[in-house]
Amino acid sequence: MSSPTSDLDADTDPDSDVDSGAPTLKEYADSPPVRRLDDWGYTHLEALAAEHGTPLYVIDLDRVRENYARFAAAFPNAHVMYAAKAHTGRAVLSALIDLGAPIECAAWGELDRAIDAGADPNECQYTAVNPPDRDIDYAVSLAEDYPGVTITAGATDTLDRLSERGYDGRLAIRINPGIGTGHHEKVATGADAKFGLPAERVPAVAEEARDSFDLVGVHAHVGSGVLGDDIDDHCRAVGRIGETARQVESSGSLEFVDIGGGYGVPYRPDEEPLDLVEVRERVRAALGDVDGQLRLEPGRYVVADAGLVLTEVNTTKRTPETTVVGVDASLGTLVRPAMFDSYHAIRNASAPDRAREPVSVGGPMCTSADVFATDRPVSRPEREDVLAIGNAGAYGYELASQFHSQPRPAEIALDGGDARVVRRRETLADVTRVERDANR
Ligand SMILES: *Cc1c(COP(=O)(O)O)cnc(C)c1O
Repeated sequence: MSSPTSDLDADTDPDSDVDSGAPTLKEYADSPPVRRLDDWGYTHLEALAAEHGTPLYVIDLDRVRENYARFAAAFPNAHVMYAAKAHTGRAVLSALIDLGAPIECAAWGELDRAIDAGADPNECQYTAVNPPDRDIDYAVSLAEDYPGVTITAGATDTLDRLSERGYDGRLAIRINPGIGTGHHEKVATGADAKFGLPAERVPAVAEEARDSFDLVGVHAHVGSGVLGDDIDDHCRAVGRIGETARQVESSGSLEFVDIGGGYGVPYRPDEEPLDLVEVRERVRAALGDVDGQLRLEPGRYVVADAGLVLTEVNTTKRTPETTVVGVDASLGTLVRPAMFDSYHAIRNASAPDRAREPVSVGGPMCTSADVFATDRPVSRPEREDVLAIGNAGAYGYELASQFHSQPRPAEIALDGGDARVVRRRETLADVTRVERDANR
């Protein structure tokens, strides 16, 4: 199997396409470790909003490439997959696939979309968490045609259900290391019994699984948004994974040890980006000696700072407590603040130089959770100004909903000098189509 990291040697590789003129993985890797909202050009953003309307998602494909390439470069010799669920847009998937990124999928729809975007099914990994029949059937039938597919199981029921379907292909067992980490309790999967088999049971289950499957790996994914001191817990979990992997390797070889994703990006202005080289050193030390190749599955890290939301101010209201700024984006557009209490930087793209004053920014929905910021200094917003909400590339559009009968926004991809619509704005007819179809 070709490793995406091999492309890092592109300029010494005689087979590499030196004449194509396209930037290589290596060139993208030499990129800044963080992109803050102020690093985007506001004039350009305002023009996009004027042309395509608001709320509007923007995703910069070059930044997506940079983030993947930088991550892969920091882990040479490792197999770095992109976890599709952070942003499953076709434009993002195909940009990464073209760079050589294999795709980690956690649902049948992600597999289907990754393959449709050009992924080699033999390079895809499917991680089954309480997999519905439809998901497992899809993965098993895919593996009949493409035996390189790897299925990751986190329950013996999943193993039984795979066997019942005649599956005897590539299998990884998901470890629950009993240690979770990340930016919010709702994403600390490592200590949640829902995910994976308790580490102490894995060696026995793995040994037995070797009779029925091609056991190629062990896997874990322990949290999300790991930044700063979270790395200590992350490394404790990695230590447990390493220990478990060595026990499993004592009954036979493993092709890989997959420690999942979870690497965070700075959302707040005072947060520092991860030092990936330091992360690598610490992860390697925590993992210890294992024979299998290290696998990682960053999702958020690849796309978070490559995306933002543009939204128009429709209301400003001074109250004794605060100035309320009403915008056309809502928790249906970007749910992270409501769901995870997430901080997202906000700037006035129409007037970035106006004096800042503390404002509360909220959408049109009838719930007090529909708020993007409270008492946040923003260059004084006026009606019809366009605000930019940063770091919306990960779990942004993916979690968008039609709550309040709001059609989902359009998405624009920036690619080199180009800007193109990659998802058109939904219409109300899109929202009601399923009802009309049902009554046909
Ligand atoms: C969600 C997920 C990831 C990616 O997580 P991030 O926090 O976005 O890096 C990786 N692996 C698996 C199995 C996942 O479910």
